[in-house]
Amino acid sequence: APITVRSLSEGMGRPANSILQVLFKAGRMATMNDSLTEEEALEIALELGVELEIKSGRDLEAELEELLEIDEDEAGLALRPPVVTILGHVDHGKTTMVDRLRSGNTAAGEAGGITQHIAAYQVMHNGKAVTFVDTPGHAAFGEMRARGANVTDLVILVVAADDGVMPQTEEAISHAKAAEVPMIVALNKIDLPGVDEQKTLQGLAQQNVLPAEWGGDVEVVRTSGETGQGLDELLETIQLTAELNEYKANPDRDAVGTCLEAFRNEGRGPVSWFIVQNGTLKVGDVVLCGSAYGKVRAMYDDRDNPIKKAGPSMPVKVSGLDEVPAAGAHFFVLKSLEDARELAEQRKFAGRSEELASMNQRPQTFDEIMAAARGEAETTDLPLILKADTPGSLQALKAELLNLDNPEVRVRLKHSGVGPVNESDVRLADTAAAVIIAFHTETDPRAEQLADQEGVEIRDYQIIYEVIDDIRSELEGLLKPEQ
Ligand code: GDP
Repeated sequence: APITVRSLSEGMGRPANSILQVLFKAGRMATMNDSLTEEEALEIALELGVELEIKSGRDLEAELEELLEIDEDEAGLALRPPVVTILGHVDHGKTTMVDRLRSGNTAAGEAGGITQHIAAYQVMHNGKAVTFVDTPGHAAFGEMRARGANVTDLVILVVAADDGVMPQTEEAISHAKAAEVPMIVALNKIDLPGVDEQKTLQGLAQQNVLPAEWGGDVEVVRTSGETGQGLDELLETIQLTAELNEYKANPDRDAVGTCLEAFRNEGRGPVSWFIVQNGTLKVGDVVLCGSAYGKVRAMYDDRDNPIKKAGPSMPVKVSGLDEVPAAGAHFFVLKSLEDARELAEQRKFAGRSEELASMNQRPQTFDEIMAAARGEAETTDLPLILKADTPGSLQALKAELLNLDNPEVRVRLKHSGVGPVNESDVRLADTAAAVIIAFHTETDPRAEQLADQEGVEIRDYQIIYEVIDDIRSELEGLLKPEQ
């Protein structure tokens, strides 16, 4: 809308008459509804001693996007450690391998402390680091990618030699291919007697993953997370692949990267696992991540040691943001805390309207609309409220649940969020006749009481597949029996 004498007067909180006087002095006879240029408005404000901020046409968001790009010709580029994600079918040995890789690098005595899940960590090999990112499951990997968070340079596909290619192996292959990143196969559990390696390689070839030993382009390393066999060779192969691909970044600029996971910590407030993708992140830097912002108060490495700065490919735990950012959100270092706040607020606003729009509204199909028009709407809803411990697990869960949709019965997500189940969730569940899914999270005692009172069901889960199985059978139960 144009600036008018009236709107400027309202905006500045000064009588319109004083504005008209300034204009008059400058030789212009104006009325209330006359429009003013930005320069005129600025001069009037100066004249009246009012501080006026004219929105620069600066598109901060676009400026941020540019920061994400690495210019191949940029001076100061240096090799950075490769960022690796381990994928594979359940029970094929990912966790065991991760523990072994990490403990191989742990000073004696520290080994007991590494079983807890962490979002990312580094392993040293030949004096050089390899970064591993531990996204909770393929769904999360796919989700992150869908949001433009391509943090992974390389996928390690763990395939148990005794079990061969399984459904999640195939999923992992699809994800790696979609991400267009090189893949290295860890032919795992090779210590088991009598495994048929050739059969597994055959299975891989059928998925167009052609082993190098068969003339293809995928390296296969025989490994055992149990005995440690082949893990050095695996790290070696990762580093060779990295050398071929020359992953680079510029350590001498402001950091950009991605939030892998975030949570609220008792003493430290919101804590985020970041991976630095370019530049160097320092304590004291102003950071914007999704709609969270703040100054980096403290940083910790993957062993919880406090650190002052983190260069390219380094995973760090960061405290100091005002809220918990979403997994997959990019973070940026900005010069001005004001800019960061402004962007965070804009994003919060945009996010809220998006959330409102996406809460129930799965777009309807033509058939559904026609059915509704004929008065024969045949869909039944299963309203749910999801609460989870971290944005990462919430996203993974949501992605899996949306896959369950069925033409006749569908999951309606009434609300989802991170943190314990609270009274507001229960009230919402009560009005929406929804069931609450608490994934890896607790229920406030008062919420529990209210749920009892109102007859709202809260289900606790620790394992994603159990949620999915239950919801699937729930959906099947809702299906109308055939006439
Ligand atoms: P994940 O589901 O892929 O994380 O698999 P886990 O690491 O939890 O392993 C599943 C099971 O396989 C566990 O009982 C492990 O002890 C076993 N396992 C994992 N790696 C190996 C291996 O290299 N050799 C053998 N023999 N067993 C393994």
